[in-house]
Amino acid sequence: MTFKDFGFDERLLEGIEATGYETATPVQEKVIPLILQGKDLIASAQTGTGKTAAFLLPLIQKIMNSAESEHINALIIVPTRELAVQIAQNLEGLSYFTSISSLAVYGGGDGASFVQERQALSRGAEIVICTPGRLIGHLNMGYVKLKHLQYLILDEADRMLDMGFNDDIMKIISFLPTNRQTLLFSATMPGKIRELAKKILKNPEEITI
Ligand code: AMP
Repeated sequence: MTFKDFGFDERLLEGIEATGYETATPVQEKVIPLILQGKDLIASAQTGTGKTAAFLLPLIQKIMNSAESEHINALIIVPTRELAVQIAQNLEGLSYFTSISSLAVYGGGDGASFVQERQALSRGAEIVICTPGRLIGHLNMGYVKLKHLQYLILDEADRMLDMGFNDDIMKIISFLPTNRQTLLFSATMPGKIRELAKKILKNPEEITI
């Protein structure tokens, strides 16, 4: 299946081509149409399957279709800085020919300072990729506006729970509109992931790769 078959915008197709993708992977074939339809999703997919582009591509397409805004439209929550950087780079490549703005918020080490992040968050970005603890730090200060959020993605959710981020995730979700599309990706599906899914997803489609 080629990416044209999903009905993607030309500018997105150019980004896909420049990134070097020719055909969709199995997880992308299953997941992309469901996300485009607006479904909530719980997907078990390992790293290396193309799961990141499986949610980034329809997200870019949907945000391109909506009026340009400085509001945060989508929040991608990940367990580690490394994963945040990786997703941000992948997003930058795929959305290169579009006008979508994105921001990674993970702090520490080689990351931006808290003040730089605060300034960027106050200006706004359509897609924000973050680690849970760092975002909570900003949310507590009151300048992150999430009331226009439409899409929430939790990536490597099992790892986040193993790292003790359950309360942080629930706190972040308490700031979000309930009327949103939520996507949960996890390598494994233990009981605690199912419990989390029950709390935050609405009539989800379940995908196993
Ligand atoms: P992920 O599972 O998201 O970590 O992706 C694993 C690797 O596959 C990354 O380097 C992606 O850039 C790459 N990738 C994702 N989708 C495709 C595709 N359709 N064709 C070729 N490579 C891909």
